[in-house]
Amino acid sequence: MSRFMSARFDSLEEYVPGEQPRDMQYVKLNTNESPFPPSQEVINAVNSEEVARLNLYPDPTAKGLKERLAKRYGFGVENIFVSNGSDDILNFAFMAFCDEKCGVTYPKISYGFYEVYAALYSLDSKEVALKEDFSIDISDYFNAKRTVVIANPNAPTGLLLSVEDVKKILDTNRDNVVLIDEAYIDFGGESCVELVHEYDNLLVVRTFSKSRCLAGARLGFAIASKELISDLEKIKFSTNPYNINRLSLLAGEAAIDSDSYYFDRAKDIIEAREYTVTELKKRGFTMTDSYANFIFAKHESIGGEEIYLELKSRGVLVRHFSKAEIADYNRITIGTKEQMQVLVSTIDDILAKKGCAK
Ligand code: PMP
Repeated sequence: MSRFMSARFDSLEEYVPGEQPRDMQYVKLNTNESPFPPSQEVINAVNSEEVARLNLYPDPTAKGLKERLAKRYGFGVENIFVSNGSDDILNFAFMAFCDEKCGVTYPKISYGFYEVYAALYSLDSKEVALKEDFSIDISDYFNAKRTVVIANPNAPTGLLLSVEDVKKILDTNRDNVVLIDEAYIDFGGESCVELVHEYDNLLVVRTFSKSRCLAGARLGFAIASKELISDLEKIKFSTNPYNINRLSLLAGEAAIDSDSYYFDRAKDIIEAREYTVTELKKRGFTMTDSYANFIFAKHESIGGEEIYLELKSRGVLVRHFSKAEIADYNRITIGTKEQMQVLVSTIDDILAKKGCAK
């Protein structure tokens, strides 16, 4: 830290993204990206004369993209917010809906950025432990009197809350915002976006990074009451009005127009997930019942960090978290079937070396 950095950041621990090593070609199963390219329509939209217009600022209202999303999800344009990745929306939401009077609550084991934003804005944060089986006890969030933030499916567990459960949380939190982060909802879960029609305090956050194969474009969107959306717009226009570049706007529009391609890719991921779960169970792994594009797995006799290191040395990257409660586990992104076959055969190699092959 330089001597000029504000002292209020002295104890801030920044978010650490999944590693992106360049020393060799890895099978990359550590950052929950899609293994599939964007649709041909997206590639064509970006490889276009729009490139020659990069001298001009993008549309700060993102009208075209919002209109597409509004139509796709059955809402008005005033119910849609778009942003530079869903991280941007989370940041704006923490800024807009939390302060010294209204703290925040979220599961202790969840997306790591929640605690970073809570620290960044010096919020009174209540981190709630998961149950023994890593599920969320919804009653922990009843009458929270704080902004509630829940990833559904949760990360890194992949466990899903039903729409009914989300509704119960909403019913007891009428006077504070409930943010449901649906980054992984397209891999088998049921979205609670329809509840936006009923609850003016529900903010549903989504991303183009996972099921829509556009992590590199940085695009996220939110659906909520027009009042919550205009609060987010206020923060956006007070920080960075041009937060989505021209090419990403076009990519997002084309992605919505080619939704069926993404639906099929999500089906491929679900099939590859089922294959991986079956194969790893045969090899002594236990895992949570994941509804996401990753699984969360632990081996009966080899520790989480050791498996992570053994896989990495053989060219397969997965994500290991050092938090004590989950240190036995690894989060393994679901790639193509071929990538998952490489994972399984690499695990066979490790188990043989350790003398635990079945
Ligand atoms: N929410 C969750 C639960 C995530 O895991 C992630 C990132 N992997 C994000 C939001 C942010 O995604 P992005 O900024 O790429 O939209």
